[in-house]
Amino acid sequence: MERRQITITGVVQGVGFRPFLQRLATSHGLSGWTQNGPDGVWVEIQGPPEAIAAFLHELPAAAPPQAAIAGIIVTPQPVEPPGVDGFVILPSRTSGPIQPVIPADLALCDDCAAEITDPGGRRFRYPFTNCTQCGPRYTIIASLPYDRPRTSMADFPLCPACEQEYGDTGDRRYHAQPIACPACGPHLWITGPDGRPTAEGEAALTAAVAALQAGEILALKGLGGFQLLVDARDDAAVTRLRARKRRPAKPFAVMVPSLAALAPLADIDAAAAAWLTAVSAPIVLLPRHPGGVADSVAPDNPYLGVMLPYAPLHRLLLDAFGAPVVCTSGNLSEEPLCTDNADALVRLGPIADRFLLHDRPIVRPVDDSVLRPDEASPVLLRRARGFAPLPIPLGRHLVSTVALGGHLKNTVGLSLGNQAILSQHLGDLGTLAAATLQRRTVEDLVALYAAKPERLACDQHPDYASTRLAETLAEVWELPLHRLQHHHAHVAAVMAEHGLDGPVLGLAWDGSGHGPDGTVWGGEALLCEGTAYRRVSHLRPFPLAGGEAAMRDPRRAALGLLFAAGGTTACQAAADWFPPQTRQTLTAAMASGGPFPVTSSMGRLFDAVAALLGFGACRSFEGEAAMALEFACRDGQAAPYPLPISPTEPAVADWGPLLTALQADMARGEPRDYLASRFHETLAAYALAVARLVGCGDVVLAGGCFQNRRLTTRIGAMLAEAGFRVYRAQRVPPNDGGLALGQLWLAGQAGEA
Ligand SMILES: [Zn+2]
Ligand SMILES: [Zn+2]
Ligand SMILES: [Zn+2]
Repeated sequence: MERRQITITGVVQGVGFRPFLQRLATSHGLSGWTQNGPDGVWVEIQGPPEAIAAFLHELPAAAPPQAAIAGIIVTPQPVEPPGVDGFVILPSRTSGPIQPVIPADLALCDDCAAEITDPGGRRFRYPFTNCTQCGPRYTIIASLPYDRPRTSMADFPLCPACEQEYGDTGDRRYHAQPIACPACGPHLWITGPDGRPTAEGEAALTAAVAALQAGEILALKGLGGFQLLVDARDDAAVTRLRARKRRPAKPFAVMVPSLAALAPLADIDAAAAAWLTAVSAPIVLLPRHPGGVADSVAPDNPYLGVMLPYAPLHRLLLDAFGAPVVCTSGNLSEEPLCTDNADALVRLGPIADRFLLHDRPIVRPVDDSVLRPDEASPVLLRRARGFAPLPIPLGRHLVSTVALGGHLKNTVGLSLGNQAILSQHLGDLGTLAAATLQRRTVEDLVALYAAKPERLACDQHPDYASTRLAETLAEVWELPLHRLQHHHAHVAAVMAEHGLDGPVLGLAWDGSGHGPDGTVWGGEALLCEGTAYRRVSHLRPFPLAGGEAAMRDPRRAALGLLFAAGGTTACQAAADWFPPQTRQTLTAAMASGGPFPVTSSMGRLFDAVAALLGFGACRSFEGEAAMALEFACRDGQAAPYPLPISPTEPAVADWGPLLTALQADMARGEPRDYLASRFHETLAAYALAVARLVGCGDVVLAGGCFQNRRLTTRIGAMLAEAGFRVYRAQRVPPNDGGLALGQLWLAGQAGEA
C-alpha cells in the first residue's frame, strides 16, 4: 500500500471533476478522498503502487472535456489505516490562497438537450436544465470555492429528486452545483413593459414565440444578461429595433435554431462549425449568403455574425420559432448590459414590447463573445461569455498587478502568479453606468480571487475614465501606478500571449492613443524589448479637423489629410461634405496652426481614404468607414501606391505621394474596388519595408486595424514569405479589449532584472 496527496490546479471546479476523480479512483480500487480547495482540487489516494500509477497516468486524458488542468502536484504521504468508505467527496475548504479556478459559462450539452425534448422525463421543456458538463458558471458564482451556497442558486433548495441526482456518483448531475428542475428551480414568466406577468412557464414560452411571430421586440433574460430578440427575416421589425436601440448601422448577430438551419444563410466550414458547437458557443462571423435574413440585420456587410442556442431557454424558443432571430445585447447603445429584471424593465422599457423573465439572478453581466475563424488562427473580436475568466497562461511570474485597460471596448485584468485573468468585455466607458461597472468589476475580480495587488497599471491618456479610476485606486490602495503608452501595451499583449521578451518589431496600427510627444498616435512601429520600446517608424502626422469630432467623422479626418497635403486649396476636394461655413471654419483653424491635435493614426488614415472614396457617410460606429473600405476590395492583388519612408529614425511614412496617386486614379474614373485594393496593398508593402529596415526577425501585429482580415492576411503572408516570424493576438482581441493584458505584462515586470 502507498498513499499520495495530489493537488490539481486549473479549471477544475464546476466541470464535474470530483465525480470524475471518484469514478477513476474506484475503478482502480483506490480509497481516499477529494475536495475543492481554494487553489484547485485536492485529492488523497491510497492503494497498490501500480493502481496509483495507473490512476495518475489516466487522469489528464480522461478528465472531463470542460476541464483545463494547469498542474498536478503529487506528494507521497504516510499510509493510513484502511477506511470503510472507499473514495469520498468531502466538503469544500474555504481558507488558504485562492488561485484562478473559476470556469466560464458552458453551452447546453447534448445530454441535457435530449432531456428537455423527452416527454417522459421530469425536465421535459424545462428552460433551466443543466449538469456537470453545461450551464451557468461565471455568471452565477458570487465567491469561491464553487459550491451552490456561494452561487445565485443559493435560494433554490434542491427537491428530493434533484438531491438524489446530486448525491449519486453514477449520475451526470453528481455534485453539479446549479442543477434544478421544475419542482425546485427557477421559473419563467412573460410581461409587457409594465412588468405585470401575463403568462408563466410553458404559456410564457408560447407567448414569447407569438410575440416574435408578430414582429415584436422581445427582451429575454439570458445567461449573462438581457438580450433583444426580433424576427431576423422581418425588415420592419429589425428597423424598429435599430431605431429604438439607437443603433443605425452596426451589424446585429443572429441566433439560428441549428447548424442545418444556418446552411442557407452563410458559408460554414469545419472550423466554423467547431466554434459554433463549442462549449464557449461564441458569435461566429461567417461569409454571408444573400437573402435568408433582412438586409438591415447587417447592412452592406459581407459577413453575418451567427450563434447557436447555447442555453436551454434559447433552444426551446428557437425550436418553436423555427427561424433565425436577431439576438443583440440588451442595452441602449453605449450602456452596459442589463442583468436585473427591474432595471431591464426601466432601461429596456422603451425598446422591447415583451419581457421574458426568470428568477435566477445574474451575478455579473457577461455579453456574447465574437470570433472570426480566419485561415491562420481565429481572431477574437470580443472576449466575454465562454472565455472570461479563463486564465491566460503567461509562462512567467508577474508581480501581482491590476490593469485598467483603455477607454473603448474596455476589459480589466489581474495577474496572479504566472497567469492573467481578463474580465469579460465591459464596453466603452463613455457613460457613468459603464464607469461604475468598471469599478465594480475591478473590485469583484480582486475579491473573487482574494488577490493582494502590489501594482496598478493604466493608459497614459490623462482623460480616460479608466485612468481616473486607476488614480483613485492607487490612492485608496496605496499602490504604485504604472502608466503605459497605449500602443506599447497593444504590442505587449501579443508578447505576453507568446512569451516574447523581444526584441520584437511591433506594428501597432490602431484608431488612436495618447502619444508621449503630445500627438495622437496610431500608425506606429515600435521596437520592443523587455518592458522598453523605441518608436522606429510612424505615419506622417496630419491634423484632425475639429479634434475629437474627427474620431467619429471620417470626412474630418480626410479634410485634415487634404489640408496637410496642400493647404486650403487641396481642401476643395472636400467641398461637398460640409456646409461651406463649417469647411471654412475648419480650414481657417488649421491654416492658423489651429487648436486641433495632429495624428499618426492608421485608423484615421483608413477613415480619410474611405471618405475620399465616398464612404464618409459611414460614421455611426468606430471603424465603420474602414470596414467599408475593406469590404470594397476586389479579389486578388493590386499594385501598391507609393508610400516612401524617410531614411532616419523614426522613419516617417509619407502618405503624400499615396494621396496624389489615389486622386489621380479617382480622376481617371478607376473603380472603387481597385482603389481600395491598392490602398491595402500599399500598407502591406509598408509593413514589409519597415520590417526590412529594422531587421528584427520577430514581428508583432497589434491594434484595432488588425481586425481587418484582408490587411492582416496579406501582411502576415508577405512577412512570412520574407522570412519573418509573425505573431498576432489569439486569446485576446487585437483591439483595445486586449490592452489590459499588455498593461499587466509591462507593469508586472517593470523594475525587475
Ligand atoms: Zn448538460
Ligand atoms: Zn428539483
Ligand atoms: Zn488601441
